[in-house]
Amino acid sequence: MHLEPTMKQAVIRRSVRKFAEKRLAPAAVEMDRTGDFRWDIAEEMARLQYFGLEIPARYGGAGLDSVSAAIVIEEISRANAAVGLCVSVHNSVSAYPVYLFGSEEQRQRFLTPLAQGKKIGTFCLTEPNAGSDVSALETSAIREGEEYILNGNKIFVTNGGISGINLIFAKTKPAEKGKGFSVFIVESEREGLEKGPIEDLMGMRGNPVCPVSLRDCRVPSENLLGVEGDGLKIALSTLCGGRLGIAAQALGIAQASLDASIKYAKERHQFGKAISEFGAIQDFLAEVGTRIEAGRLLIYRACDLKEKGNNYTKESAMAKVYASEVAVDATRAGVQIHGGYGYTKAYPIERFYRDAKVCEIYEGTSEVQRMVIARSLLHG
Ligand SMILES: Cc1cc2nc3c(=O)[nH]c(=O)nc-3n(C[C@H](O)[C@H](O)[C@H](O)COP(=O)(O)OP(=O)(O)OC[C@H]3O[C@@H](n4cnc5c(N)ncnc54)[C@H](O)[C@@H]3O)c2cc1C
Repeated sequence: MHLEPTMKQAVIRRSVRKFAEKRLAPAAVEMDRTGDFRWDIAEEMARLQYFGLEIPARYGGAGLDSVSAAIVIEEISRANAAVGLCVSVHNSVSAYPVYLFGSEEQRQRFLTPLAQGKKIGTFCLTEPNAGSDVSALETSAIREGEEYILNGNKIFVTNGGISGINLIFAKTKPAEKGKGFSVFIVESEREGLEKGPIEDLMGMRGNPVCPVSLRDCRVPSENLLGVEGDGLKIALSTLCGGRLGIAAQALGIAQASLDASIKYAKERHQFGKAISEFGAIQDFLAEVGTRIEAGRLLIYRACDLKEKGNNYTKESAMAKVYASEVAVDATRAGVQIHGGYGYTKAYPIERFYRDAKVCEIYEGTSEVQRMVIARSLLHG
C-alpha cells in the first residue's frame, strides 16, 4: 500500500498550487462580492486541461488518475472554492458520465468540447419536490417519433448560468418509480430550455447556480445517454464519483482555513505573546490538522478503489461526509482563531466558513451519506 503521492502527483499539486495562488486566489474576493464568473480565468484553465481531468487525451482531456484529479480540485478550492465547485461538477458529474455511458458519437460531439473547456457542463437532477429522494422527480420526457419532448423544472444547477451542455434527468416512464427515468444531453441553446435567475447563495457565490426549466424542449433520441431507463443507474454511479469531487473541494477549503489560521495565530499578539503560543489555539490547530490528514487519506483510498475498478460507494460516502464536516469545523475554528476580525471581510476566513457549509448539503446531504454508509455496513 502506497500512502504517499507519486512523483507525478506531487508535481501536479505544485503546478496547480502555483497557478491557483497566482490567478484564482486574487479573484476570489471579487467573485464572492459580485457573483461574476471569470471567463478569462476559465480559458486559462481550459488550456491547462482542468476541464478534462480524467478524460483520455483522445477526447481532449488530461487523462489523469483519480488521485491526481482530486489533488487538482483540492488545490483549486484552496484558492477559490467557487471555481473549485465549477471544476468539480463539470468534471465529475458532467463530463465523466458522458465518457462512461456515452456512445462514441456522443463522446465526439459532447465530451470533446467539455473536456477541452469549450463548453461548461451541468448535472440537473434536483427539482422542487425531488431533493434527497431522487425517485420523486417529475420532469417528463415523452417520446414522439425520433424525439423526446422534455417538460419540468430543475433547481440549484451548479454552473447553470454558464453552461453549454446539460445532463437532464427525466422520467421516460412516469408510472415506474425509480427505474422509469433517463438522462438526456441537452445543449443550452436548444429551444425550450430556459435558465432562471442566479441564486443569491450564502457561499460559493462566484458560481452561477440557477434553475433550469424545460418547456416542450424537443431533444433528438441520439441525445439519450445510455439507454432508456438507465437514469437511476447513471445518477448513482455518477454521484459516487461526484462525492470525491465534493470531498476534495471540502479538503481544499479546510486546508485554506488551517493555513490562514496558522498565519494569523503567529501574527496576532495578546497578553504580550503570539496567540499561537496559547494551548487553546494550539488545540484548535492540532485537531484541524489531524482531521485534514485523515480526510485526505479517506479521499485517496476511495480514489484508489475507483482507479482499480472496485466498488467504492461506501468509501466515497465516508470521504464526503468526513471531509465536508472537517471543512465546516475547520472554518468555524478558523473564525474563532481570528477573533472579531474573523467575523469581518478583512480576512478570507469568513468566506471559507460560508463556502464550506454547502459541502455538507449538495450531492447528497451528510444524513444521506450516513444512510449509504450504514446500508453498506449492514448489508454489504
Ligand atoms: C449551491 C448548491 C448547488 C447545487 N448544485 C446542484 C447541481 O448541480 N445539481 C443538482 O441536481 N442538485 C444540486 N444541488 C441540490 C442538492 O444536491 C440538494 O439540495 C440536496 O441533495 C438536498 O436536497 P434538498 O435541498 O431538496 O433537501 P431535502 O431532501 O428536502 O432534505 C432536507 C433535510 O432533510 C434531511 N433528509 C431528507 N431525507 C432524509 C432521510 N431519509 N433521512 C434523514 N434525513 C433526511 C436532509 O439530510 C436535510 O437535512 C445544489 C444545491 C446547492 C445548495
